[in-house]
Amino acid sequence: MKINKEVIIIGGGLAGLSSAIHLSKQGLEVTLIEKSSYPRHKVCGEYISNEIIPYLSWLGIDINELHPTTISKFEFSTQNSKILTAKLPLGGFGISRYELDYFLYQKALKNGCLVLTENVIDVSFSNNIFTVTTANHTFSSKIVLGAFGKRSNIDQFLSRNFIRKKAPWLAVKAHYSGGFDDDLVALHNFNGGYCGVSKVENNSINICYLADYRTFKKYKNIEDYQQHVLYENKHLKAVFEKSTLLFDKPITISQISFDKKQAVENHILMIGDTAGLIHPLCGNGMAMAIHSAKIASELVLDFHSGAITREQLEKKYSTKWKQNFEKRLRIGRLLARILIHKRISNVILKLIVAFPKLLPLIIRQTHGKPIVIN
Ligand SMILES: Cc1cc2nc3c(=O)[nH]c(=O)nc-3n(C[C@H](O)[C@H](O)[C@H](O)COP(=O)(O)OP(=O)(O)OC[C@H]3O[C@@H](n4cnc5c(N)ncnc54)[C@H](O)[C@@H]3O)c2cc1C
Repeated sequence: MKINKEVIIIGGGLAGLSSAIHLSKQGLEVTLIEKSSYPRHKVCGEYISNEIIPYLSWLGIDINELHPTTISKFEFSTQNSKILTAKLPLGGFGISRYELDYFLYQKALKNGCLVLTENVIDVSFSNNIFTVTTANHTFSSKIVLGAFGKRSNIDQFLSRNFIRKKAPWLAVKAHYSGGFDDDLVALHNFNGGYCGVSKVENNSINICYLADYRTFKKYKNIEDYQQHVLYENKHLKAVFEKSTLLFDKPITISQISFDKKQAVENHILMIGDTAGLIHPLCGNGMAMAIHSAKIASELVLDFHSGAITREQLEKKYSTKWKQNFEKRLRIGRLLARILIHKRISNVILKLIVAFPKLLPLIIRQTHGKPIVIN
């Protein structure tokens, strides 16, 4: 038998949880289905742009309760270790996904959301109603938000375009103890990838890198790869040599795709990485995930109240999504292509050294402005 729900959100990362908090705060009865339990570590650079602070406050979330680090400086190095630093135009903070996702999950529960730990194995839409299936239940709902991240089984059964192609990227992340400036986020390039370093709560250093799988697979393990490839950049070598691993072993994900995706598929509004993943070198995916949750939630409320039709809901969401994020994703892809080329990135670096205002300008192109609350 189908269990009827007012709103179903599939996936409880930052996008899904933010939407759950937003919609429940406005009185909707939210069911969030997340396949894994909280808290847990996620592969992520864990530097968040300050642009989302006004929205988090509106959601009733005081991030300072988690004691994040305050980050205001940016350091960048090329593959051959040429380095420069800049002040971040807007700044941000460092907090682990372990703490942040768990914090939002607790807030969602407090707001009365029902959070189920189940894997969604099918979603279909007919006669204006979604059917969402997990191993244990079948639900029906008029509203479903897709917040299932970069890559999911759901992308397979929705036959989304990006899932058909092999993605060449994998990512590795771990926390370390050691010395690193609290207010700094560093982006160090190496042959076939780039690595972000910044501090999170509890004085831990998060080191997270994106690597080209073809280069990576030539080495026998992560340690071997790091020593032979990442250590070629002397700044990265110094970071690793001054740090002690706090995890049993680094965590990894593979098949990361930065291809274009649709913001609405099979009538599902996609939020966060489900709608599109920005290259992590821009350090803006989390802010975008949370911001897209806000845009979708506001429109869902209009749809729920009858102010707009389903057709208008889908059209408006696609348009707003493009207006807010499409340019950032495009610039992210372009920057990633440039950085992978040793010679071109050195030329760019020389240009930035000659014209220091260029770097904050580039950073601004991949970041949004503080989210406005009406
Ligand atoms: C290497 C790397 C470094 C990054 N560094 C940064 C950074 O420093 N700063 C930044 O802002 N962004 C960064 N990002 C981007 C950021 O991590 C993402 O944009 C962000 O996590 C998106 O959140 P989300 O809620 O969309 O997805 P997620 O957090 O991935 O959540 C999706 C959830 O859906 C669940 N799910 C999937 N399938 C199902 C299913 N069938 N049923 C139920 N649940 C399901 C998953 O378990 C998961 O919890 C980085 C990304 C990468 C890859």
